[in-house]
Amino acid sequence: MKKIIALLLSLVLLVGFVGCGEQASDVSSKASSKVSSVQSVVSKNATQSKVPEPEPFYSKVITFTKADLDKANSTQYVKPKNIIFMVGDGMGLNDITICNKFSDFKFDFGLVLDQLKNKGFATTKSASSEVTDSAASATALATGTKTANGMVGQDMYGRDLKNISEIARECGKKVGIVTSDSVLGATPSGFAVHNISRNNTAELALSFMKFKPDVLIGNGYNDFISGISAEEDTKAMFKNVNVAADFGMFEYCLTKSEKKDLPFFGFTGFGMKSGDYRLGQATEMALKTLENENGFFLMIENAGTDSAGHSNNIQGKVDNVAFFDKAVAVAVKYCMEHPDTMLIITSDHETGGVTLPEGDDYQLSDVKFTTDGHSGVNVGVFALGYGTEYFNGKTVDNTDIAKFAIKAVKGEW
Ligand SMILES: [Zn+2]
Repeated sequence: MKKIIALLLSLVLLVGFVGCGEQASDVSSKASSKVSSVQSVVSKNATQSKVPEPEPFYSKVITFTKADLDKANSTQYVKPKNIIFMVGDGMGLNDITICNKFSDFKFDFGLVLDQLKNKGFATTKSASSEVTDSAASATALATGTKTANGMVGQDMYGRDLKNISEIARECGKKVGIVTSDSVLGATPSGFAVHNISRNNTAELALSFMKFKPDVLIGNGYNDFISGISAEEDTKAMFKNVNVAADFGMFEYCLTKSEKKDLPFFGFTGFGMKSGDYRLGQATEMALKTLENENGFFLMIENAGTDSAGHSNNIQGKVDNVAFFDKAVAVAVKYCMEHPDTMLIITSDHETGGVTLPEGDDYQLSDVKFTTDGHSGVNVGVFALGYGTEYFNGKTVDNTDIAKFAIKAVKGEW
């Protein structure tokens, strides 16, 4: 339904651009012209991107071997300068089991994420319900405080909670947010901005512009543009961002554009297909862009395990865990090459209530969903890096994961 609304909204916007100044009322033509000016900032980059044929800035195919995995697990990690936090939205432990059993897109030795050295579990309930939504869970994971379902970056009383991205910035680190969802989705929002509702997309877009992560990659270009065009000074703000309106423009914008040293907002047009490496590729580009002597905090989300759960699409679950695992492999490789990096991977909640049948020789079609909503089961925590033995064999609360990661960002040991 949300997709249909988003589609309708973008159609309305398109009509707005075409018909600008002809039949629109004063107010809406003013709004449309603001949107058009913002668009022209972007299309300047688009035109330039057609000129050179850049060298690949990311891997065409993401490879990872069992030897890499063993090396990653035996590396001596030091106190981290860089923190990578990955969220499989709606990814339950059973999703990982069926991906291992049925995916033809996993690595030949299996998945990277569930073979990392340190593993545990996390409880996920929100302040308002046994069963959390992504907004409350992202807030818990990013701030260490529980809130009510629907709220992002605020406590139950509507007070702003400082999040790990803001803390990282205060510590002089760069901040990146990468998602296969809309950049205004509940998870990225919980890690960057504050609002009483995850649905206030225009306000969320403005807040993102004000916080301005150093790297922001995801879907939702139309929602974002229509949100920021609602305010006078945002056009000027937008000029100070390096914007790529689709994945094909990323490399040019990040390497050749005259704006390449400005914060980068890349809109992907993700729509996960089997055999897709783009979340991993986006992760590679984010890591390259964020690397600096003071370190960074990078949040990476894959949303497809949640939507596959809502639509009871079991193949979608399998594909999405493997898709996410390609980004995990990129992050693990980075940790291996930069032992002052910490990686924490978890889920905000499970979606679909996936259950497995009895016995060994079941087919994917025998795996059943028990809901088209979220469930309250515990999720996995997988980690690599200095001090992450903390999670090993333990069940922590999602707020404990945040507290641990925030300590790491602050360098408090
Ligand atoms: Zn959901």
